[in-house]
Amino acid sequence: MHMSNEPLLDAVKIQRRVAELATEIREAYPDGLPLCLCVLKGSVFFAADLLRHLDDGAEVDFIRAQSYAGTSSTGQVTLSHLPGMQLAGRAVLILEDIVDTGRSAAAILEWAWAQEPASVQVCTLLDKPSRRAVELRADFAGFVIPDHFVVGYGMDYDERYRNLPAIYVLESGEGSKSGTEPE
Ligand code: 5GP
Ligand code: MG
Repeated sequence: MHMSNEPLLDAVKIQRRVAELATEIREAYPDGLPLCLCVLKGSVFFAADLLRHLDDGAEVDFIRAQSYAGTSSTGQVTLSHLPGMQLAGRAVLILEDIVDTGRSAAAILEWAWAQEPASVQVCTLLDKPSRRAVELRADFAGFVIPDHFVVGYGMDYDERYRNLPAIYVLESGEGSKSGTEPE
């Protein structure tokens, strides 16, 4: 596995877009901010930055969705670490790092709607619409990206690279001239 030398999205670009997303969200919820549901673990960095741009009334809870092993989705989504806060009657905003096949977000949406919230929307930092396997439209999307496996800013490859401030493409295969093997 080789990581691209140049980031697909550098930290400045990410931070600028996250601030814009916060503005879009504030405008979409004039009557009060939604309860933000951060999807563990990949969305933690995104959620932390986004929430700092929202008002002090912003609330956050967490849910875990797992579907990936290595760089391929297993197709089976397991939800765990369910939020302790009540969703009933609340406007809920799911914060995703990336919507790929859409299966994780679809599974979380289905679970969330079963809690009888007032509304549920999806905000994703990255959107890979070309990979969609189920019908899923993100209500807010930071960047639409092509079909690359990316790491950084929360996103991992076998639990590594989450802490990178920028987002890189992970290239498979040998002899990738543009890539360097990360330590
Ligand atoms: P989906 O269920 O939409 O196929 O995938 C959603 C989850 O898979 C994301 O929340 C993320 O954790 C993981 N995922 C999808 N695409 C990528 C990618 O390009 N890189 C990484 N690191 N994770 C991904
Ligand atoms: Mg995820």
